[in-house]
Amino acid sequence: MFLLDGNMVARREVARGMFVLSVDAPQIADSVRAGQFVNLGWSPGPLLRRPFSVYRVDGDRIEVILKAVGVGTAQLLAMMPGETISCLGPLGHGFDLSPGPTSVVLVSGGLGVAPMPLAAREARAAGMHVTWVHGARTADELCTEADGDEVIWATDDGSQGFAGTAVAAVPDADLVLACGPNRMLASVASHWPDAQVAVETYMGCGTGVCLGCAVPLERGGYDRACKEGPVYRAADIDWSMLPAHLPYAISA
Ligand SMILES: Cc1cc2nc3c(=O)[nH]c(=O)nc-3n(C[C@H](O)[C@H](O)[C@H](O)COP(=O)(O)OP(=O)(O)OC[C@H]3O[C@@H](n4cnc5c(N)ncnc54)[C@H](O)[C@@H]3O)c2cc1C
Repeated sequence: MFLLDGNMVARREVARGMFVLSVDAPQIADSVRAGQFVNLGWSPGPLLRRPFSVYRVDGDRIEVILKAVGVGTAQLLAMMPGETISCLGPLGHGFDLSPGPTSVVLVSGGLGVAPMPLAAREARAAGMHVTWVHGARTADELCTEADGDEVIWATDDGSQGFAGTAVAAVPDADLVLACGPNRMLASVASHWPDAQVAVETYMGCGTGVCLGCAVPLERGGYDRACKEGPVYRAADIDWSMLPAHLPYAISA
């Protein structure tokens, strides 16, 4: 785990209101695994850092993807190249992409696209055929950077690709990885109990101390998303205890 001040070097829009920020963070770029996240702070900014999955790595730079949903994300998106972002990471346990399976399906809903480019990269390196199913409410909310050996687009309103949820468009595969709203992940759990899902809870410290990111477990008790997660076996989470609308449905 590293704590470093990174220069924000670039920003690009990849769907309506959805932006990728590129930050110089060499030690994190070198060591991050798919599904891990960084806890970002800036000044002046909120008291608590804000967690974001690492979206891509490009040389010494890490990228994060976000939309403005509140104070912190709006401030991050207002930052200009050259400004400094304090980066703590890589944090948490990522996806297990050990060689073995011959095919993987990545299922992402909306901003759940965030951990998937690194997952696609690691899965390819492990010899897997990658199918990426990416869904959103409507066509202009689809992240244009989804990519795999095969990409399946899904929209709730049928404006692009499959008309329906990303989960309904998932083909057969040895391994399923998913990230998106809890409602989507609960549905993944009901179809593929062994799927690996990346959950995005409320979070404080990101390092296992504050217990702000408790995830209810099917066997009883809680885990910390920042330490034991944020990637879990889908059936290990008690989805009935998690709010169905989180994350990212603030405008819904
Ligand atoms: C491990 C992890 C990885 C994440 N990866 C990403 C990512 O790649 N891209 C991304 O855009 N977001 C990601 N998030 C969610 C992101 O951290 C929150 O959206 C962000 O902290 C909100 O900060 P804010 O100051 O803008 O919102 P606030 O002003 O704090 O709150 C605004 C609204 O957002 C809601 N909110 C606050 N925190 C969260 C949260 N953690 N999840 C869902 N809703 C929240 C609040 O209920 C409120 O309605 C991730 C969260 C975790 C735990």
